[in-house]
Amino acid sequence: MPVEEVHTALGPGGEFDLIRRMLGAWGDRAHGLGDDGALLDVPPGSRLVVSTDMSLEGTHFQLDWLALEEIGYRAVAASLSDLAAMAATPLGVLIAMALPATLAPRVEALAIGVGEAAALGRCPIVGGDTTRGDRLCLAVTVLGHARTPVRRAGARPGDGLFVTGRLGAPGAALSALRGGGVLSPAVRSRFAHPVPRLDEARWLADAGITALIDLSDGLASDVRHLAAAGEVAMTVELDRLPVVEGVSALEAARSGEEYELLAAAPASLDVRAFEERFHLPVTRIGTVTATGSVPVTFLHRGVRVDPGMGHDHFSR
Ligand SMILES: [Mg+2]
Repeated sequence: MPVEEVHTALGPGGEFDLIRRMLGAWGDRAHGLGDDGALLDVPPGSRLVVSTDMSLEGTHFQLDWLALEEIGYRAVAASLSDLAAMAATPLGVLIAMALPATLAPRVEALAIGVGEAAALGRCPIVGGDTTRGDRLCLAVTVLGHARTPVRRAGARPGDGLFVTGRLGAPGAALSALRGGGVLSPAVRSRFAHPVPRLDEARWLADAGITALIDLSDGLASDVRHLAAAGEVAMTVELDRLPVVEGVSALEAARSGEEYELLAAAPASLDVRAFEERFHLPVTRIGTVTATGSVPVTFLHRGVRVDPGMGHDHFSR
Protein backbone atom coordinates (compact mmCIF):
# COMPACT_ATOMS: atom_id res chain seq x y z
CA MET A 1 0.00 0.00 0.00
CA PRO A 2 1.50 3.41 -0.94
CA VAL A 3 2.25 5.52 2.12
CA GLU A 4 -0.45 8.10 1.22
CA GLU A 5 -3.18 5.49 1.57
CA VAL A 6 -2.41 5.21 5.26
CA HIS A 7 -3.66 7.91 7.63
CA THR A 8 -1.00 9.93 9.38
CA ALA A 9 -1.55 9.65 13.16
CA LEU A 10 -3.55 12.58 14.58
CA GLY A 11 -2.47 14.55 17.65
CA PRO A 12 -4.59 15.31 20.74
CA GLY A 13 -7.47 17.82 21.05
CA GLY A 14 -11.25 18.16 20.68
CA GLU A 15 -11.10 18.91 16.95
CA PHE A 16 -8.96 15.84 16.35
CA ASP A 17 -11.34 13.74 18.43
CA LEU A 18 -14.12 14.83 16.04
CA ILE A 19 -11.99 13.92 13.04
CA ARG A 20 -11.18 10.54 14.62
CA ARG A 21 -14.93 9.89 14.96
CA MET A 22 -15.51 10.79 11.31
CA LEU A 23 -12.63 8.54 10.28
CA GLY A 24 -14.31 5.77 12.27
CA ALA A 25 -17.52 6.31 10.24
CA TRP A 26 -15.60 6.37 6.95
CA GLY A 27 -13.35 3.36 7.44
CA ASP A 28 -11.52 2.65 4.19
CA ARG A 29 -13.58 5.30 2.36
CA ALA A 30 -11.00 7.87 3.55
CA HIS A 31 -7.41 7.80 2.30
CA GLY A 32 -4.31 9.54 3.55
CA LEU A 33 -5.94 12.00 5.95
CA GLY A 34 -3.94 13.67 8.70
CA ASP A 35 -1.14 15.10 6.58
CA ASP A 36 -1.04 18.75 5.50
CA GLY A 37 -2.12 17.93 1.97
CA ALA A 38 -3.47 15.06 -0.09
CA LEU A 39 -1.27 13.37 -2.70
CA LEU A 40 -3.12 12.16 -5.78
CA ASP A 41 -2.06 10.89 -9.18
CA VAL A 42 -3.80 12.01 -12.36
CA PRO A 43 -3.60 9.34 -15.08
CA PRO A 44 -1.19 10.30 -17.87
CA GLY A 45 -2.95 12.08 -20.72
CA SER A 46 -5.83 13.23 -18.50
CA ARG A 47 -6.57 16.69 -17.17
CA LEU A 48 -7.34 17.51 -13.55
CA VAL A 49 -10.96 18.67 -13.09
CA VAL A 50 -11.80 20.52 -9.85
CA SER A 51 -15.07 21.89 -8.54
CA THR A 52 -16.27 23.25 -5.21
CA ASP A 53 -19.76 23.69 -3.82
CA MET A 54 -21.22 25.01 -0.58
CA SER A 55 -24.25 23.76 1.36
CA LEU A 56 -25.37 26.16 4.07
CA GLU A 57 -28.09 25.62 6.67
CA GLY A 58 -30.84 28.20 6.22
CA THR A 59 -29.85 28.89 2.60
CA HIS A 60 -29.70 25.45 0.97
CA PHE A 61 -31.50 23.33 3.54
CA GLN A 62 -33.21 23.35 6.93
CA LEU A 63 -32.14 20.89 9.59
CA ASP A 64 -35.72 19.67 10.08
CA TRP A 65 -36.14 18.77 6.38
CA LEU A 66 -33.62 15.99 6.22
CA ALA A 67 -31.67 13.58 8.40
CA LEU A 68 -28.02 14.52 8.99
CA GLU A 69 -26.95 11.51 6.89
CA GLU A 70 -29.00 12.93 4.01
CA ILE A 71 -27.54 16.42 4.43
CA GLY A 72 -24.02 14.99 4.23
CA TYR A 73 -24.92 12.79 1.27
CA ARG A 74 -26.59 15.59 -0.71
CA ALA A 75 -23.69 18.00 -0.24
CA VAL A 76 -21.21 15.52 -1.70
CA ALA A 77 -23.58 14.22 -4.40
CA ALA A 78 -24.19 17.80 -5.59
CA SER A 79 -20.46 18.38 -5.94
CA LEU A 80 -19.90 15.07 -7.72
CA SER A 81 -22.64 16.08 -10.15
CA ASP A 82 -20.38 18.93 -11.29
CA LEU A 83 -17.71 16.37 -12.17
CA ALA A 84 -20.37 14.45 -14.09
CA ALA A 85 -21.19 17.68 -15.92
CA MET A 86 -17.59 17.71 -17.20
CA ALA A 87 -17.69 13.97 -18.04
CA ALA A 88 -14.92 13.51 -15.47
CA THR A 89 -14.06 10.53 -13.27
CA PRO A 90 -13.81 11.33 -9.54
CA LEU A 91 -10.40 11.11 -7.86
CA GLY A 92 -11.21 12.40 -4.39
CA VAL A 93 -13.46 14.49 -2.15
CA LEU A 94 -12.45 17.13 0.40
CA ILE A 95 -14.98 18.33 2.93
CA ALA A 96 -14.71 21.54 4.97
CA MET A 97 -17.32 21.78 7.67
CA ALA A 98 -18.61 24.45 10.05
CA LEU A 99 -20.37 22.55 12.80
CA PRO A 100 -22.62 24.02 15.54
CA ALA A 101 -21.64 22.67 18.99
CA THR A 102 -25.14 21.17 19.34
CA LEU A 103 -24.51 18.91 16.33
CA ALA A 104 -21.03 17.75 17.39
CA PRO A 105 -22.39 14.71 19.26
CA ARG A 106 -23.96 13.54 15.97
CA VAL A 107 -21.06 14.20 13.60
CA GLU A 108 -20.91 10.49 12.70
CA ALA A 109 -24.33 10.78 11.03
CA LEU A 110 -23.08 13.52 8.73
CA ALA A 111 -19.92 11.56 8.05
CA ILE A 112 -21.90 8.44 7.12
CA GLY A 113 -23.82 10.39 4.47
CA VAL A 114 -20.61 11.93 3.13
CA GLY A 115 -19.09 8.45 2.95
CA GLU A 116 -22.13 7.04 1.11
CA ALA A 117 -21.90 9.66 -1.63
CA ALA A 118 -18.13 9.22 -1.94
CA ALA A 119 -18.67 5.47 -2.31
CA LEU A 120 -21.25 6.09 -5.02
CA GLY A 121 -18.65 8.22 -6.84
CA ARG A 122 -16.11 5.42 -6.29
CA CYS A 123 -13.59 7.90 -4.87
CA PRO A 124 -12.02 8.35 -1.45
CA ILE A 125 -12.33 11.21 1.02
CA VAL A 126 -8.86 12.74 0.93
CA GLY A 127 -9.05 15.83 3.11
CA GLY A 128 -11.05 18.51 4.82
CA ASP A 129 -11.30 20.90 7.68
CA THR A 130 -13.57 21.16 10.71
CA THR A 131 -14.45 24.32 12.57
CA ARG A 132 -17.16 25.43 14.97
CA GLY A 133 -19.90 27.62 13.45
CA ASP A 134 -23.31 29.04 14.25
CA ARG A 135 -24.90 27.23 11.31
CA LEU A 136 -24.05 23.94 9.67
CA CYS A 137 -22.05 24.51 6.50
CA LEU A 138 -20.51 21.87 4.27
CA ALA A 139 -18.08 23.05 1.60
CA VAL A 140 -17.25 20.15 -0.66
CA THR A 141 -14.39 20.15 -3.15
CA VAL A 142 -14.21 17.36 -5.68
CA LEU A 143 -11.23 16.38 -7.77
CA GLY A 144 -11.54 14.37 -10.94
CA HIS A 145 -9.79 13.52 -14.15
CA ALA A 146 -10.90 13.50 -17.76
CA ARG A 147 -9.12 12.64 -20.96
CA THR A 148 -11.82 14.32 -23.04
CA PRO A 149 -13.78 16.68 -20.77
CA VAL A 150 -17.05 18.06 -22.15
CA ARG A 151 -17.79 21.72 -21.49
CA ARG A 152 -20.83 23.98 -21.54
CA ALA A 153 -19.64 25.53 -24.79
CA GLY A 154 -19.75 23.44 -27.96
CA ALA A 155 -23.41 23.02 -28.97
CA ARG A 156 -23.87 23.39 -32.74
CA PRO A 157 -26.96 24.44 -34.71
CA GLY A 158 -28.79 21.27 -35.69
CA ASP A 159 -27.86 19.40 -32.50
CA GLY A 160 -30.64 17.99 -30.36
CA LEU A 161 -31.07 18.81 -26.67
CA PHE A 162 -31.28 15.74 -24.43
CA VAL A 163 -32.06 15.40 -20.74
CA THR A 164 -31.55 12.37 -18.48
CA GLY A 165 -34.03 11.07 -15.95
CA ARG A 166 -37.39 12.55 -14.98
CA LEU A 167 -37.65 16.10 -13.70
CA GLY A 168 -39.71 17.85 -11.07
CA ALA A 169 -39.37 15.90 -7.81
CA PRO A 170 -36.92 18.24 -6.00
CA GLY A 171 -39.07 21.27 -6.86
CA ALA A 172 -42.17 19.47 -5.62
CA ALA A 173 -40.30 18.47 -2.44
CA LEU A 174 -39.20 22.04 -1.73
CA SER A 175 -42.71 23.47 -2.25
CA ALA A 176 -44.14 20.85 0.09
CA LEU A 177 -41.44 21.39 2.73
CA ARG A 178 -41.79 25.17 2.61
CA GLY A 179 -45.58 25.02 2.63
CA GLY A 180 -45.83 22.42 5.39
CA GLY A 181 -47.21 19.81 3.00
CA VAL A 182 -46.56 16.09 2.87
CA LEU A 183 -43.99 14.51 0.54
CA SER A 184 -44.76 11.29 -1.26
CA PRO A 185 -42.07 8.64 -0.65
CA ALA A 186 -40.96 8.82 -4.31
CA VAL A 187 -40.57 12.61 -4.25
CA ARG A 188 -38.79 12.55 -0.90
CA SER A 189 -36.38 9.88 -2.07
CA ARG A 190 -35.44 11.82 -5.24
CA PHE A 191 -34.92 14.98 -3.15
CA ALA A 192 -32.89 13.35 -0.36
CA HIS A 193 -30.85 11.01 -2.56
CA PRO A 194 -30.00 12.64 -5.88
CA VAL A 195 -27.69 10.48 -7.99
CA PRO A 196 -24.77 12.16 -9.76
CA ARG A 197 -24.87 10.85 -13.35
CA LEU A 198 -21.15 10.08 -13.58
CA ASP A 199 -21.18 6.90 -15.66
CA GLU A 200 -23.98 8.27 -17.82
CA ALA A 201 -21.97 11.42 -18.57
CA ARG A 202 -18.90 9.45 -19.65
CA TRP A 203 -21.11 7.28 -21.87
CA LEU A 204 -22.59 10.40 -23.46
CA ALA A 205 -19.10 11.90 -23.94
CA ASP A 206 -18.01 8.73 -25.73
CA ALA A 207 -21.17 8.95 -27.86
CA GLY A 208 -20.12 12.35 -29.19
CA ILE A 209 -22.16 14.94 -27.27
CA THR A 210 -21.02 18.50 -27.96
CA ALA A 211 -21.93 20.33 -24.73
CA LEU A 212 -22.96 19.31 -21.23
CA ILE A 213 -24.30 20.83 -18.00
CA ASP A 214 -25.89 19.37 -14.88
CA LEU A 215 -29.29 20.65 -13.79
CA SER A 216 -28.62 22.35 -10.47
CA ASP A 217 -30.50 25.65 -10.89
CA GLY A 218 -33.33 24.12 -12.94
CA LEU A 219 -33.73 23.43 -16.66
CA ALA A 220 -35.17 26.91 -17.33
CA SER A 221 -31.92 28.49 -16.11
CA ASP A 222 -29.41 25.83 -17.09
CA VAL A 223 -30.51 25.68 -20.73
CA ARG A 224 -29.83 29.43 -20.92
CA HIS A 225 -26.32 28.83 -19.54
CA LEU A 226 -25.75 26.18 -22.21
CA ALA A 227 -26.99 28.52 -24.98
CA ALA A 228 -24.90 31.45 -23.71
CA ALA A 229 -21.73 29.36 -23.40
CA GLY A 230 -22.13 27.98 -26.92
CA GLU A 231 -23.16 31.32 -28.45
CA VAL A 232 -26.15 29.59 -30.02
CA ALA A 233 -29.92 29.69 -29.60
CA MET A 234 -32.04 26.84 -28.32
CA THR A 235 -35.68 25.82 -28.54
CA VAL A 236 -37.14 23.68 -25.76
CA GLU A 237 -40.45 21.88 -26.27
CA LEU A 238 -41.79 21.72 -22.73
CA ASP A 239 -44.40 19.10 -23.69
CA ARG A 240 -41.54 16.68 -24.28
CA LEU A 241 -40.09 17.09 -20.77
CA PRO A 242 -39.97 13.79 -18.90
CA VAL A 243 -41.70 14.63 -15.61
CA VAL A 244 -42.42 12.74 -12.41
CA GLU A 245 -46.06 12.01 -11.64
CA GLY A 246 -48.09 14.97 -10.44
CA VAL A 247 -45.70 17.66 -11.69
CA SER A 248 -46.46 19.92 -14.66
CA ALA A 249 -43.94 20.62 -17.41
CA LEU A 250 -43.59 24.23 -16.26
CA GLU A 251 -42.97 23.18 -12.66
CA ALA A 252 -40.41 20.62 -13.86
CA ALA A 253 -38.63 23.28 -15.92
CA ARG A 254 -38.21 25.42 -12.79
CA SER A 255 -37.23 22.56 -10.47
CA GLY A 256 -33.63 22.92 -9.26
CA GLU A 257 -31.22 20.51 -7.58
CA GLU A 258 -32.20 17.80 -10.07
CA TYR A 259 -28.60 16.76 -10.78
CA GLU A 260 -29.72 15.28 -14.08
CA LEU A 261 -27.72 16.04 -17.24
CA LEU A 262 -28.61 18.33 -20.13
CA ALA A 263 -26.58 17.65 -23.26
CA ALA A 264 -26.41 18.91 -26.80
CA ALA A 265 -25.73 16.06 -29.19
CA PRO A 266 -26.15 15.09 -32.82
CA ALA A 267 -29.77 14.10 -33.38
CA SER A 268 -28.53 10.56 -34.11
CA LEU A 269 -27.64 9.97 -30.43
CA ASP A 270 -28.49 6.35 -29.66
CA VAL A 271 -31.17 6.92 -27.03
CA ARG A 272 -32.14 3.25 -26.89
CA ALA A 273 -28.56 2.10 -26.22
CA PHE A 274 -28.29 4.61 -23.36
CA GLU A 275 -31.57 3.47 -21.83
CA GLU A 276 -30.63 -0.19 -22.14
CA ARG A 277 -27.28 0.46 -20.47
CA PHE A 278 -28.52 2.62 -17.58
CA HIS A 279 -32.26 1.83 -17.20
CA LEU A 280 -32.75 5.58 -17.16
CA PRO A 281 -34.58 7.64 -19.77
CA VAL A 282 -32.72 10.10 -21.96
CA THR A 283 -35.19 12.30 -23.80
CA ARG A 284 -34.84 14.71 -26.66
CA ILE A 285 -36.51 17.95 -25.53
CA GLY A 286 -35.39 20.48 -28.08
CA THR A 287 -33.04 21.73 -30.74
CA VAL A 288 -29.98 23.97 -31.05
CA THR A 289 -30.35 26.71 -33.66
CA ALA A 290 -28.24 29.59 -34.92
CA THR A 291 -28.21 32.68 -32.73
CA GLY A 292 -31.42 34.66 -33.00
CA SER A 293 -33.07 37.54 -31.21
CA VAL A 294 -34.07 35.23 -28.33
CA PRO A 295 -31.38 32.92 -26.91
CA VAL A 296 -33.84 30.31 -25.65
CA THR A 297 -37.42 29.77 -26.82
CA PHE A 298 -39.73 27.64 -24.67
CA LEU A 299 -42.76 26.16 -26.41
CA HIS A 300 -45.74 24.79 -24.48
CA ARG A 301 -48.61 23.31 -26.52
CA GLY A 302 -47.18 25.05 -29.54
CA VAL A 303 -47.21 28.49 -27.91
CA ARG A 304 -44.23 30.49 -26.71
CA VAL A 305 -44.11 30.66 -22.91
CA ASP A 306 -41.71 32.04 -20.33
CA PRO A 307 -41.21 29.46 -17.57
CA GLY A 308 -39.28 32.09 -15.57
CA MET A 309 -35.85 31.37 -14.25
CA GLY A 310 -34.80 28.52 -12.02
CA HIS A 311 -32.99 29.11 -8.78
CA ASP A 312 -30.67 32.11 -8.44
CA HIS A 313 -29.34 33.13 -5.00
CA PHE A 314 -28.90 36.73 -6.05
CA SER A 315 -32.01 37.31 -8.16
CA ARG A 316 -34.30 40.08 -6.95
MG1 LIG B 1 -23.08 22.44 -12.33
